[in-house]
Amino acid sequence: MRILITGAAGFLGSHLCDRLLADGHAVIGMDNFITGSEANLAHLAGHPHFLFIRHDVSNFIFVPGKVDAVLHFASPASPNPSSPFGYVNLPIQTMKAGALGTHNSLGVARKHNARFLLASTSEIYGDPLEHPQKETYYGHVDPIGTRSVYDEAKRFAEALTMAYHRFHGIDTRIARIFNTYGPRMLLEDGRVVPNFLQQALRGEPLTVFGDGAQTRSFCYVDDMIEGFVRLLLSDYHSPVNIGNPVEISVLEFAEAINRLVGNTKGIVFMPDRRGEGDPQRRRPDISRAREVLGWEPQVSLEEGIRRTIPYFKEKLG
Ligand code: NAD
Ligand code: UDP
Repeated sequence: MRILITGAAGFLGSHLCDRLLADGHAVIGMDNFITGSEANLAHLAGHPHFLFIRHDVSNFIFVPGKVDAVLHFASPASPNPSSPFGYVNLPIQTMKAGALGTHNSLGVARKHNARFLLASTSEIYGDPLEHPQKETYYGHVDPIGTRSVYDEAKRFAEALTMAYHRFHGIDTRIARIFNTYGPRMLLEDGRVVPNFLQQALRGEPLTVFGDGAQTRSFCYVDDMIEGFVRLLLSDYHSPVNIGNPVEISVLEFAEAINRLVGNTKGIVFMPDRRGEGDPQRRRPDISRAREVLGWEPQVSLEEGIRRTIPYFKEKLG
C-alpha cells in the first residue's frame, strides 16, 4: 500500500513509518513539527519508499499520486500544563488538528477511496466512572475544562470518522490509544515517562503529582504499533481500545523507575492535578482487541523501561 501518516515526526508516527516501511509499504509522512522532531525521521532521509511533506493538516491536504491508506496521528498529545508542548498550552492548534485535521485527512481518504485509521485516545473516557474502560462506555468528560481542547476534539474526530463511514461509506477504523511509552518520546513534553526517566537519570527526585494513588496502564511502543497494524489490516469499524491492561499507581511506577535506573534520590510530592481533570484511574478492557485482532501486549513494563532507558541516556548526553 501507499500510506499517508499524519504526525509522522512524532513519537508514535515515526515508529509507524518504520514498521510500515519494513513491511514493504510506501509511506508519505506529513508533519508541521509543532510537537514532533526532524530527528525522529532523520534515518529515513533518502529511503526509496519514503516521502516527507511538511504541512499543517488543519489546512487542505494535497498528496501527489495515489493513496491506499490514511493514518491520522497529528495532534499534540501531552496533558502537562507546565510543558510548552502540552496541549493545554496549544489549545487552538489541538482543536484544529482534531477537528479540521481529521476532516482534511478523511477528505484524502474519500478522494482516493482509501482506508482510514484515526488515532483516538483513552481521554475520550475522561475521568472515568466505569473501570476498566470498555469501548461501550460513553465517558465522563468536562466539555469546558482545560483538557477539553484535546478530549472534545478527539470525540469530535471519532464522530466525524463514523459519519464518513456511515454517510460516504469510507473504510474507517478508530484506535483508542492508552498511555504508551518508548524511545523517541519528546523529552520536554511533560508526560510521566519522559519526566520520571529524565529525573532518575539525572539523579533527581521524581515529581509525583498528588499522592500518586492515581493509576495508569503503560504499553510499550512496539506492542502498540503491532495493534495499529492489525487494526489497519482488519475490517472492523467500531472503536478498539489498544493498551496494556496491567494497571499501576503513579507512586509504584515512580518507585519502579528509581529501582531500574538505580536512582537513590527518591520522590517529591507536588500539588495534585485533579482540578485540571487528571483522571484518577485508567485501564483498558482489551477484550475487543483480543477477539477482533488477536492482539495483546507482549512486553512487560520492566522490559519496556529497560528498552527505553538507552534513548533517554543518549539524549541527555
Ligand atoms: P507526538 O506529539 O510525539 O506526535 C504528534 C505529531 O503530530 C507531532 O510530530 C506533531 O508535530 C504533529 N502535529 C500536531 N499537529 C499537527 C498539524 N496541525 N499538522 C501536522 N502535524 C501536526 O505525540 P504521540 O504520542 O506520538 O501521539 C500521536 C497520536 O496518538 C496523537 O494523535 C495522540 O493524540 C495519540 N495518542 C497518543 C498516546 C500516547 O500515549 N502516546 C495516547 C493516546 C493517544
Ligand atoms: N504525573 C506525575 N508526575 C509527572 C508527570 C505526570 O505524577 O512529572 C502523573 C500525572 O498527574 C498523571 C500520570 O502521571 O496522573 C500520567 O500523566 P501523563 O502526563 O503521562 O498523561 P495522562 O495519562 O494524564 O494523559
